[in-house]
Formats: sequence, C-alpha cells, structure tokens
Amino acid sequence: MALLATYVGLSHAVRAAVSTYIDRTDMASTSTSKKRNAAKKERRPKRKICNFCADKQPDINYKDVTRLRKYISERGKILPRRISGSCAKHQRLLTVAVKRARVIAFLPFVAD
Ligand SMILES: [Zn+2]
Repeated sequence: MALLATYVGLSHAVRAAVSTYIDRTDMASTSTSKKRNAAKKERRPKRKICNFCADKQPDINYKDVTRLRKYISERGKILPRRISGSCAKHQRLLTVAVKRARVIAFLPFVAD
C-alpha cells in the first residue's frame, strides 16, 4: 500500500513536471516561431562541401591561377566562405594564395 502510494505520488509529480515542461516549451515555441516566421521564411541553405577537401589536394598554390580564379568575383574580390562553401582552413590558405597571386600580378587587385 505504501509502495502504491509512493508510486502514485511519483507519477503525479512526474505528470505535473511533464505538463509544466510541455506548457513552457509550447509557449516558447509559439512565441519564437511567430517571430522567426515574420523575420524570414525558414531558409536553411544546404551545407556546401569544400572543394579542396573533396579533391584531397593538400596545397593551394598561388601559381594555380585557373583554380584561384573560381574563388574571386568579377571585380577581383575574394569570395566569402558562405558563398564559395570552402572550409575555414582552406579559405585561409586560399586567401593567402590569392593575395600572393595579386602581388606578382597573376590576379588583379581590382578589375573594372
Ligand atoms: Zn577544405
């Protein structure tokens, strides 16, 4: 009987906790989702895979102009990671390579 009583008490406590949890999450989700939907319509772009990681080429060479050209804009600017999709490590190497290539005039600083 005592066991039953504790069981009932426990279950009641758990149920109460669960219900409060559900209420809280429900409230939270509705308030945030409304805001989020108003701000932007759930745009989650697909994660791009880094081309350099995929190719397994260890080095990004400043002399490899044909390759570097894919990572600069028409104006000659280096494309950001969110557009090119390259990983942080390779983006850093790429940036250095592009800058070196600019210094020796393989790539333009600005293109008009
Ligand atoms: Zn990479």
